[in-house]
Amino acid sequence: MKVGCGYDSHRLVEGRRLVLGGVEIPFEKGLLGHSDADALLHAVCDALLGAIGEGDIGTHFPDTDPAYRDIASLRLLEAVAGKTKEAGCLVHHVDATIILERPKLAPFLPQMAVNIARTLEIPGNGVNLKAKTNEGMGFIGRGEGIAVMAVITVTERERP
Ligand code: MG
Repeated sequence: MKVGCGYDSHRLVEGRRLVLGGVEIPFEKGLLGHSDADALLHAVCDALLGAIGEGDIGTHFPDTDPAYRDIASLRLLEAVAGKTKEAGCLVHHVDATIILERPKLAPFLPQMAVNIARTLEIPGNGVNLKAKTNEGMGFIGRGEGIAVMAVITVTERERP
């Protein structure tokens, strides 16, 4: 069993879509970034890359590469899932906490979990997502951005 942790944050700005876990959420602001800026999927990618000892998302998908401009981050997670298989590992469980003041995410969490579980090819109950506020404190409390923390466990496939 191996464990990986991931963290990501993005700034909330006007004129961008808010996409988390591959779900577009109606809101007056969206996350700023080179890709679709899906902070949840970026944290999950980083956790998974950590678990398999493959560095971080910036190394594999640099934000200076035009190929990743506005890319749906589910494509990045697919690629990381592929690296996980190549490393001989199976994803066991994902747990993530999205920290934001607004909007309320509860109605959208189930679809985000389905998107992650499908992409990682694990059962739906292998993904647990939580959303909470920062009690009005700091950049999150002021609504300037969103942060996500994720933990993933993987098991190494039995070798013949
Ligand atoms: Mg990011």
